[in-house]
Amino acid sequence: MKWVNRAVVVIVVLLTLNVFVQPGAMTSIGKRVTNAMDLPGMLKTEIDRATKHVENAQNTQNNSNATPIENIVQGRTLSNHYYYRFAANVPDRAKRTFLQAVRQYNATGIVKISPLTDRTSSQVNEMTFYVYHKRLRTGSGSVELGLGGPKIYPWVGSHHDDLNRGKAGLNMEYPQVSLRRSVALHEIGHVLGLDHSQRRDSIMFPVDQGRTQLSKEDLATLRKIYHHSTK
Ligand SMILES: [Zn+2]
Repeated sequence: MKWVNRAVVVIVVLLTLNVFVQPGAMTSIGKRVTNAMDLPGMLKTEIDRATKHVENAQNTQNNSNATPIENIVQGRTLSNHYYYRFAANVPDRAKRTFLQAVRQYNATGIVKISPLTDRTSSQVNEMTFYVYHKRLRTGSGSVELGLGGPKIYPWVGSHHDDLNRGKAGLNMEYPQVSLRRSVALHEIGHVLGLDHSQRRDSIMFPVDQGRTQLSKEDLATLRKIYHHSTK
């Protein structure tokens, strides 16, 4: 029975992608794609757990000042140590933008984001930085600056904790507005489990405000997600 459990959990992947937009069309704020890939029948426990996360989130996140936690990250046990890698074809200027944001997260002391090397264990949290091209749809009025989200593999970590293999992307179609530290901070924030905030001083406000400092609410939520970090 034990190996059956293991076979199940390896396949569960919870993935959230969030779109970050430039001011212009408030209508596209909060547009998101949520995707949970699973095996029918076998994963009821996991699905129930995910549902409960959503309910908990709705109950506990009524305080509109707090920076919310991504639903699929709610209740997870994640190490605060992440290893980043760049996808192929990320230009140097985009790498610099990502690395500025990485330094800033490391300076909080709450999470640690190091470069992934060949010697890095396979049972660690990873984040992939990438770029993509997406042109503004005619008449929509808003520019998509980036995409980001966590990707959770429940219970497969070295201490039966959860692993996160999220991705953060910058839209190179509009480098003049997307290659900004505020955008990289926002997308990496999603990877780390932060959801959109209603406060303009949050880096997680869904429309870019050019913020380059995490707000005290952003820091508080980050601490909450990683308070039981398994190191
Ligand atoms: Zn976002």
